[in-house]
Amino acid sequence: KKITIAIDGFSSTGKSTLAKQLANHLGYVYVDTGAMYRAVAFFAMQRGYISAAFFNKESLINSLSFIKLEFKFNASLGFAEMYLNDVNVETEIRTIEVSSFVSKVAEISEVRAKLVEQQKQMGANKGIVMDGRDIGTVVFPDAELKVFMNASASTRAERRFIELQEKGDQVTYDEVLKNVQERDYIDTHREDSPLVMAEDAVEIDNSHLSREEQFDAVLSLVNE
Ligand code: C5P
Repeated sequence: KKITIAIDGFSSTGKSTLAKQLANHLGYVYVDTGAMYRAVAFFAMQRGYISAAFFNKESLINSLSFIKLEFKFNASLGFAEMYLNDVNVETEIRTIEVSSFVSKVAEISEVRAKLVEQQKQMGANKGIVMDGRDIGTVVFPDAELKVFMNASASTRAERRFIELQEKGDQVTYDEVLKNVQERDYIDTHREDSPLVMAEDAVEIDNSHLSREEQFDAVLSLVNE
């Protein structure tokens, strides 16, 4: 019997890697909700609504109906890519610049309401692995399996730094650590759906676990 799997946790805890692996293994659909918040942040950047110096929230809220988000499966990559108004933005949404704005965009209740609604619709059919910050608490409070991933900020920053470096991003470790810490703070302190672990979630701290070990741990929970 197919189930709904909610994977939440802090930034760069390897949620998406694990969620993708699980979905592939189980033949489930994988949804990266962070990509949706990132695409909205990228839209705000493109329109000039947000920069390091200011944020015109009103304009973003007023243009939310002009934002169309879609995931399209890329068979050669083996996962779905994010499309913003019919344009593939998979690369653009992963930059440190978007990372530095995204939590501010995700604080806005109107943004969350729009994305949560779309996420609930995507989960109408069972057999889904969704990762984010509020999946077990808000999007799918009735999910059969909820996992909460954690790791120390320095471990997470190190992983993210290596990833960005591999992509050729000219970023320093300190910048990445600062970004991880800032996002943690905003994500846990916002008024609307702050990042908390669902009461019935299983916490996995993967600071000292290999990808394989954590995959096996979660898979055994699925099979319980
Ligand atoms: O998962 P990822 O790090 O790509 O998410 C980017 C940001 O989007 C998070 O730092 C958080 O601010 C926001 N987010 C959220 N709720 C989700 C998924 C992501 O607020 N369900």
